[in-house]
Formats: sequence, C-alpha cells, structure tokens
Amino acid sequence: MCTWYFVLGTLYTNKKMYDVIVIGSGPGGYVAAIRAAQLGMKTALVEKYSTLGGTCLNVGCIPSKALLDSSEHYHNAAHTFATHGIDLKGLKVNLPQMIARKDEVVTQNVDGIQFLMKKNKVDVHHGLGSFVDAHTVKVTKADGSATDIQGKNIIIATGSKPASLPFITIDKKRIITSTEALKMKEIPKHLIVIGGGVIGMELGSVYGRLGAKVSVVEYMDSIIPTMDKSLGKELQKSLKKIGFEFYLKHKVTGVENLGKEVVVKAENAKGETVEIKGDYVLVSIGRKAYTDGLNAAAAGVKLTERGQIEVNDHLQTAVPHIYAIGDVVKGAMLAHKAEEEGVFVAETIAGQKPHINYLLIPGVVYTWPEVAAVGYTEEQLKEQGRAYKVGKFPFLASGRARASMDTDGMVKVLADASTDEILGVHMIGPRTADMIAEAVVAMEFRASAEDIARMSHAHPTYTEVFKEACLAATDNRALHI
Ligand code: FAD
Ligand code: NAD
Repeated sequence: MCTWYFVLGTLYTNKKMYDVIVIGSGPGGYVAAIRAAQLGMKTALVEKYSTLGGTCLNVGCIPSKALLDSSEHYHNAAHTFATHGIDLKGLKVNLPQMIARKDEVVTQNVDGIQFLMKKNKVDVHHGLGSFVDAHTVKVTKADGSATDIQGKNIIIATGSKPASLPFITIDKKRIITSTEALKMKEIPKHLIVIGGGVIGMELGSVYGRLGAKVSVVEYMDSIIPTMDKSLGKELQKSLKKIGFEFYLKHKVTGVENLGKEVVVKAENAKGETVEIKGDYVLVSIGRKAYTDGLNAAAAGVKLTERGQIEVNDHLQTAVPHIYAIGDVVKGAMLAHKAEEEGVFVAETIAGQKPHINYLLIPGVVYTWPEVAAVGYTEEQLKEQGRAYKVGKFPFLASGRARASMDTDGMVKVLADASTDEILGVHMIGPRTADMIAEAVVAMEFRASAEDIARMSHAHPTYTEVFKEACLAATDNRALHI
C-alpha cells in the first residue's frame, strides 16, 4: 500500500496509527522503541508475554548472570576463602533462595523496561502481533480479544528460541533447555550438556560450581568453537579443575529419559558409540529465529532457508518500510548486537545515516575465568593470508591477579605485521568481560599495539595484562615476564 493510501485508510477507520510499530520487546525491540520515540516518532511496542525485555531479561542474559554470580560466591566460599584466611563452618547451598534472588533481579529489570516505555511515551500493547497487511498488525491478547494497529514503519524484533535435534524430545523435566536450567528445583548430580557453546559453558558452570558433575558432548574439536582456538583450550583447562569432563568430536545420536536417569548416546571420531548416564540433559546446540504466529507472508516479508527474516544491509525486509533486527535476522545472537540494530533502524527511519561495525561487536562468555574477544581470530587471519604478529601475556604474571588468586588465563593481541594495527584481541581471565571494552575502543580508533603499549594503565589492575600483551606484540617488549 503506498503512503497516501495508508494515511487515507487510517482516516476512515478507528485503528490506532503509529509512525513506528515494534514487534517484540527484547533488547532489539525495546531499544528501537526508545530511540524512535527519542527521535519524535509516535511509537508502539507489541509483546506477547506479560513482561517486557524478551529472552535476554526474562530467560537469558540477566537470570544466567545472576545465577553465575551466586554460584561463583558459593564456589569461592567453599574453595578459596580458607586460603584467604576466612574460615567458614556449615556452608551449604540454598537453591530455592538462589533462584528466588535471580527472579527478583529479573523482576527489577523487566519493571525497569516498563518504566522506560512510560518515560518515552511508547504505547505498549500486550498480545501476539501478527501481520494483516504491510501496514496493519493485529494484536491478539491472551483472552482472545484482538485490536488492529497501523504503522507507517514496522520493526520485527521477535528474537529466537532454543534449537534442538529431530530425535530429541525436550520434556522440560530431565531433558531441558536453558529456560528450565534457570529454574531448577534441585542441583543435578550429573548434568550432561549437549553443545559446548556459550550456554553450555555458562549454565554448566553454574551447576558445576554447586557440586554437579558436568559432562559436555561437543560435535567440534573444541569448546566455544567459533572463538579463537586458544580460548577454548584455556577454558577447557579451567573448567576441568571444577569437575567438567569433555567429549569432543562426539556426535549425539540419541537422548532418552528413563525416569530418574537420562542416557545420551554419541558417536566418537572412531565411529564407536559412547553412552553417558546422568540425571539431567541440557540441550544447548544453538538457537533459531522465531517467527511463529507473525504471519510475515501477509505483509510480503520473506524468510531465508534457515527461517530467519531476510534483510538487506539497511536491515530492510523485502518490504522497504518493514525492518527486522536482532536474533531473528542473520549475525551473532547477542543482546548488544540486537541493541545496535535497534538504534540503527530507528535512526534510518528518521532519515539519518547510521553505521554498525559488525567486526567490533565483542563476544563474551561469563564463565570463570571470563572469556572475551573482539575482531579477527588467528584462524580467520590465516585463512585471509594476512601477515600478523602475536603478543601474549599470562595473568599468572600479573600482581593484581596473584593478589586475587585469579591467575588462570591470558590476553592475546593480534596486530598487522607491517602497520601494527590491532586486528583482534582474545582474552581469558578475571573480569575480561569488562576489559574487552578497551580493546573495542582501541580498534574502533584503529590503534596500533604500540599505541596501547605506550598508554598508562593503573597499577595494579587486570588491564595491565592487555598493555603487556600489546607490548609483547609490538617488539616482544613485555616488561614483566
Ligand atoms: P528476544 O530477546 O528474543 O526478544 C524477542 C521478543 O519478541 C520476546 O519477548 C518474544 O516474546 C517477543 N515476540 C516474539 N514473537 C512475537 C509476536 N509475534 N508478537 C509479539 N511479541 C513477540 N546475549 C548477550 O549479549 N549476553 C549474554 O550474556 C547473553 N546470555 C544469554 C543467556 C541465555 C541463557 C540465552 C538463552 C541467551 C543469552 N543471550 C545473551 C542472547 C540474548 O538473549 C539474545 O541475543 C537477545 O535477547 C536477542 O534480542 P532480540 O530483541 O532480538 O530478541
Ligand atoms: P552456540 O552456538 O554458542 O553453541 C552451540 C554448540 O553446540 C556449538 O559448539 C556447536 O558446535 C554444538 N553443537 C551443535 N550441534 C551439535 C550436536 N548435534 N552435537 C553436539 N554438539 C553440537 O549456542 P548456545 O550455547 O545454544 O547459545 C545460543 C545463542 O545464545 C548463541 O548464539 C549465543 O551467542 C547466545 N548466548 C550468548 C551468551 C553470551 O553472550 N554470554 C550467553 C548465552 C547465549
């Protein structure tokens, strides 16, 4: 429908008309709504659940980090406090309280989004959003009642759901996804994790630290396989120390719930079948774009073969005034990537010319030690045939890390062999999730390794490890090793 038809149409109906309708209130959707409202556009946000914030706030980033923090406190109390000179008696886990605190953190965060919508005068419509045509979205509430709203522009931000394998039935009791793993009623005795990616390592860590045996079955030859290979190797060493065991290069062929026990069958590299028995199986083999009930075809929006919404470089779908962002489109499934795209689309609609540097979207795994990276991996540089230098520095040589007893890990800096420009930074160690921001800034300003090496870093801090790795990359000039 062309725009004047659209305006005329809305004059003769009682439908609410918006400059922008956003479908989905995750980090992509709610951020897009805020930015659109900031830019003076009348904005609506449609969310099928009763709380805002999407996967990230309700069953993703926030609750997982809350449990990671709690379990880390317990693990430290049980294993490192005595060395620090703190003796504890009668230490035990109160799992219901741990889960209740996590729920409270989620509530605070989702309520915060509700507040932000009010503050920015974004109309929130609770109900399933489905396209009637290219400008009309039907919002169907849980009680079955429906209202149509109209938008000059529409942003699809419907996110993703856990992926599974055809032969696995997620019964949500013993064969679970991340969503159930965030509200366990008991600590597993033996948790089998299928998929050695981010969710598997983070949620495996939660229960590993609380005392569960954790077995990871991973198809590839390393854990967190999309990151620089050195990070997976280091992380594997650290996780073994808290009782993880790894079945790498194993292809899962069967998963069965036998009541009180689960059995996972996997084929190893030699073609032999391995059987692992535990009491819970976490299926964490990735996530898939979610478009159920959206009726995208009614608007002329096309999907890719993988079920994602097809978009061009401006994040426009096949219908130019309909955009899509976040997990439902190509690219990394990360909250901060979705947020950047939300801002990008709102500004594009407002006539601005925004830009996203996808290479510099950092990736973080919130295990302990934390893993964080930005830019090219060493494997990618080899594949590109680009000449590069490597500078590495271990946390073991850092005074700050020794003081806190967090000496696992290292920082690796990859720099161009002739210009010294930093091309990639790969960190594993204490607080690297926060440290990676310095590398992002450096790379955004196209800093050389020597630029960073010549900047003062407070002593003693973990950030000195990044500076030392840059010194090592410059001319093998690290000072403290
Ligand atoms: P989502 O957050 O999935 O939101 C989509 C929303 O759309 C949902 O609320 C859904 O109900 C709604 N919706 C869907 N269809 C409709 C419809 N038809 N009508 C109305 N509403 C609809 N990323 C990080 O960057 N850092 C982390 O630490 C991190 N931890 C994670 C931990 C776990 C356990 C999981 C599962 C994910 C984690 N992620 C993390 C990934 C992150 O949650 C996602 O990348 C992010 O939520 C994607 O945002 P989004 O806005 O695209 O979609
Ligand atoms: P993932 O893509 O990180 O890891 C999936 C793993 O499963 C991979 O290592 C893959 O090789 C393996 N795998 C796939 N099929 C398999 C099979 N048949 N048998 C054995 N292994 C198999 O996916 P995830 O951990 O499920 O996480 C989903 C998404 O959520 C990710 O894209 C991630 O970015 C996002 N997430 C991010 C964070 C974070 O930023 N800290 C935390 C959690 C989730």
